[in-house]
Amino acid sequence: MKTILMLEDNDERIASFQKAVAGLAGGYDLKIWRDAHSMIAECAEFFPSAALICLDHDLNSQPGVKADPGTGLDAAIFLADFLPVCPVLIHSSNIDRVYSMHNEMRFAGWRVDRVGPLGADWIETTWLTRMRELLAEHGNTWKANLPPDHNERVARMQLSLDGLGLGDALGEMLSYQSANAAQRLNANELPAGPWFHTDDTEMAISIMAVLKSHGELNQDALARRFARRFERDPDRGYGSMTRIQLREINAGAKWQEMAAKAFGGQGSMGNGGAMRVGPLGAYFADDLARCADAARQSALVTHTHPEGVAGAIAIALGAAMTWQLRAVPATDFAPRFFGEILRLTPESKVGRGILLASQTPAGVPFQDVARLLGNGSLVTAPDTVPFCLWMAAHYPHGFVDVIGKTISVGGDCDTNAAIVGGMVALSAGRESIPNEWLEAREKNLL
Ligand SMILES: [Mg+2]
Repeated sequence: MKTILMLEDNDERIASFQKAVAGLAGGYDLKIWRDAHSMIAECAEFFPSAALICLDHDLNSQPGVKADPGTGLDAAIFLADFLPVCPVLIHSSNIDRVYSMHNEMRFAGWRVDRVGPLGADWIETTWLTRMRELLAEHGNTWKANLPPDHNERVARMQLSLDGLGLGDALGEMLSYQSANAAQRLNANELPAGPWFHTDDTEMAISIMAVLKSHGELNQDALARRFARRFERDPDRGYGSMTRIQLREINAGAKWQEMAAKAFGGQGSMGNGGAMRVGPLGAYFADDLARCADAARQSALVTHTHPEGVAGAIAIALGAAMTWQLRAVPATDFAPRFFGEILRLTPESKVGRGILLASQTPAGVPFQDVARLLGNGSLVTAPDTVPFCLWMAAHYPHGFVDVIGKTISVGGDCDTNAAIVGGMVALSAGRESIPNEWLEAREKNLL
């Protein structure tokens, strides 16, 4: 069954639309939302069958509903975060807003058209004619490959993202007094909320969104989400090269060219590919080869240097392994954890650092381990990834404890703690994350 997705709040119009669609040959379902928020919450699950999306702009609250119904522009902005699904037909009489909606979607590559609601029978005449043409000319272009256990994988990603986001926010806030971080967190001396996260979480949210909607790592979709989130909220501590790349992508540049051009053509070896990849490791936690491959794809959108790629692969594998080994006692954890990561991480400085980490015994104080392996103060993958893996390998079962310890070594505090949090949440489990921490986060962003 093909579906026509529609945002429309007017009963008379809805009755006419239903009648018009019922008369179409070919069997179309009409799915209507009366407010933008419920459409935004539900419409992605209809993408595989969507033949046309029809949008109104102005919406009134339904009787008895106090909540703001939002607008068609809210829906257009939401849709434009995705790769094009099917043609869009706008039917609002609010001309200014129609142009905003049109531009939002057109710049994002969607096929979009409008009909003005003019005259008493516009739905049966102009709208029906135009929608027949669009249906005949343009098919569904949505690509998704959702596995049968997709929902379980998404729940795992969410757990990793929660750990990552908390590590990121606490690492950022406590970085100025990092040496006391472990004591403070263990004594439950928490910073005042809301806890704002940084670029690490912003980019991890995009990775999660792409896997949630496509079931695989679609690089075009990921580049688009990275760039659009950056455009809406640029002050999240992005690195200067990432800022340039994402700004240029928003201005129409191809992500492949921007990623390859970085740092005079060497590509970035920063820890940015690794910092955001925990949820991806969670999604592919049962298949390490696929996990490594998807991690490589995710890194290449911004980091083409082999070290930047190797760092992302190693941390995704780390997340997969923390999940696989979650019931294994801490004493047996590290050898199996490092064994698989070393097997699948490409030969690189990162890989040699991980080898050294794997040979560094549990009894060595973690502060000394940070001095040996690096604490991210160079913000490169080789300087960040081996230490983070060592922390996850030796403190896999205490989320609060490992976040505090990781921050206390200084360096790239937010990214180190984001990486470790994204892994250890999976081995320590949801019950190890204090509710108080989850509630202290900024709202409406995850
Ligand atoms: Mg950051």
